[in-house]
Amino acid sequence: MEPIIIVHGGAGDIPQSRVKGKLDGMKVAVTAGHECLMKGGSALDAVEAAVMTMEEDENFNAGYGSVLTLRGEVEMEASIMRGSDLNTGGVTLVKEFLHPISIAHKVLTDSPHSLLGGEGAKIFALEKGFKTIPSESLISEHAKKALQHFLEHGEFGRTEIGPKDEGGVGTVGAVAIDRNGHIAAATSTGGMSGKAVGRIGDTPQIGSGTYADDHIGAVSTTGHGESILRYCLAHSIIKLMESGKDAQTATTIAVNGMTARLKNTAGAITLSKNGDVGIHFSSKRMSWAYVKDGHIFYGINPDEVLKEEYNPGNNC
Ligand code: ASP
Repeated sequence: MEPIIIVHGGAGDIPQSRVKGKLDGMKVAVTAGHECLMKGGSALDAVEAAVMTMEEDENFNAGYGSVLTLRGEVEMEASIMRGSDLNTGGVTLVKEFLHPISIAHKVLTDSPHSLLGGEGAKIFALEKGFKTIPSESLISEHAKKALQHFLEHGEFGRTEIGPKDEGGVGTVGAVAIDRNGHIAAATSTGGMSGKAVGRIGDTPQIGSGTYADDHIGAVSTTGHGESILRYCLAHSIIKLMESGKDAQTATTIAVNGMTARLKNTAGAITLSKNGDVGIHFSSKRMSWAYVKDGHIFYGINPDEVLKEEYNPGNNC
């Protein structure tokens, strides 16, 4: 089976000034994940590798660059799922680690639990050898400005995510199939600008932000968290594929269905178990990329598919 990975860098009202940074970050992320797959890495390792690059990139709302709570702090969330045995790992309310997705991966492999939050997630991460960093070192200038803009103009859940001129958007995710036909999905976020302290969104919740099943496919979502989790968006897409819809049709139906019903926007990337690709968003923009036939395909605007030659790096 030809390995394949799709990445996204968040849905929302992304301003023009943020487009290039996001597209550059998409190429870095998809290359990291694809390299991992080509070296024989598992789908699970590939989605983690892709997400880690975006957690380090301030163009995205995950890891460094995460948006801020009403108290001006980061509270990050992530989840990861393995399609072979439906095992999952998630973390929420994480403050002092650069890579929440790697802690989520450890929850999957090394914990009897599925989702750890706050102090418990920190204790677990320290036990597993992750090093803390000062929480403030994860705060970017963009995130501060996004919170300021929100405090002046925002109404949580009623405005597009993030200010038009500064951009607070950029939850990240990846879905992949490896050589052995195994499937995985991962999603990581700082949440939404101006969220209440302790707010938990869709991203760490399996079936909302992330889902993977070797028998069907994989999904990672982004957008208005409270709507995504009420609609169980990732699992809605999986169910549509299970009933025979291809990845693109299932993704379009579910994302548009959520927006019609709940009046908020979202986006998703989807892979079917056969490797067909689904990408759709009801927001103004969502950055995405995948590698196929020696080319990177990518885009950020509706109905846009850009293409360039693929030059692998050295990751994983
Ligand atoms: N879904 C994320 C959340 O609500 C935000 C995003 O995707 O941009 O936490």
